[in-house]
Amino acid sequence: AAKAAGKGRVRRHGETADSATVRRTRLARDLPDALSRGQLRLVYQPVVGVAERRVLGIEALVRWDHPVLGEVSPEEFVPLAEDDGLIVPLQRWVLDQATAELAALLRAGRDLQLGVNISVRHLQSGSLVPDVAAALARAGLPPQRLMLEVTESLFIGQPDRADGDLQTLHDMGCVISLDDFGRGYSTFAYLARLPVDVLKMDREFLAGLTDDARCAALVESVIELGNRLSIDVVAEGVETPGQLAALRDLGCRYLQGFLLGRPTGPAELAAVIDAFDPASLDVVGAQPAAA
Ligand code: C2E
Ligand code: MG
Ligand code: MG
Ligand code: MG
Repeated sequence: AAKAAGKGRVRRHGETADSATVRRTRLARDLPDALSRGQLRLVYQPVVGVAERRVLGIEALVRWDHPVLGEVSPEEFVPLAEDDGLIVPLQRWVLDQATAELAALLRAGRDLQLGVNISVRHLQSGSLVPDVAAALARAGLPPQRLMLEVTESLFIGQPDRADGDLQTLHDMGCVISLDDFGRGYSTFAYLARLPVDVLKMDREFLAGLTDDARCAALVESVIELGNRLSIDVVAEGVETPGQLAALRDLGCRYLQGFLLGRPTGPAELAAVIDAFDPASLDVVGAQPAAA
């Protein structure tokens, strides 16, 4: 039955809930072997500096090429790995692979910072600090090259050892970013509590940026918040020239999104970075919607 769960198959009437369960069960069953069978890979998405007019960083995003189901999104399998105790080995692999690939790019003369998404479970396991240190040492990278992206959902509840370990990583010199900022729960408290260097503004904010004054005011407020706290703000999910122009004109200094660069495999990455056209930042947009 699971064999029929291919991506493009015709779904029979009334099958929807069932097939979701079948898929989930199948993915959970196959995930333990995905690593050893070489089915995981990383793609990298550029982060562009407006003032620097170049690609300053890359974010590692994990992919699973399932032999039958095709490409599976991390939104789907990372939670499964977190439930199954597989997340720590998975994150170790991501850290090792991404730092090695960054080191190769640095040797090839590119000047970049690497962002890696971190799981709460890895942080809470107590092994993130030694795992990061080991990956950096193996790749021969200074910690300043590595940005650890954490989501605020990690920190709901009482401060715990995760806070301390994050502080340790910050003290080591790693850059700490709060990912998906603005999605979810009360975010300001975390800014007081955690050693945050970078805010990644959730792409939800960009939806109405160019035609909704309230949206534009929210984006402007996040940028201002970053300025006041000396925290760099990265806009995630920039898709249109209008959004780019509005963000630039509101003073957002770092941009990421399909418009600036798609997630790309290591083979083509250097070429994609080199092909970034700084003139694309000079697009003339409509004024941001007035607040
Ligand atoms: P994220 O860290 O916020 O990563 C950004 C996601 O937005 C990526 O999806 C990226 O492909 C997508 N994106 C980038 N630019 C645009 C755009 O212009 N428009 C739209 N619509 N989307 C854009 P992806 O690769 O599917 O990753 C989804 C999430 O999965 C990530 O969100 C991150 O939370 C998580 N993730 C990815 N890799 C890892 C990993 O190695 N470990 C862990 N724990 N989580 C990961
Ligand atoms: Mg991220
Ligand atoms: Mg994000
Ligand atoms: Mg996310």
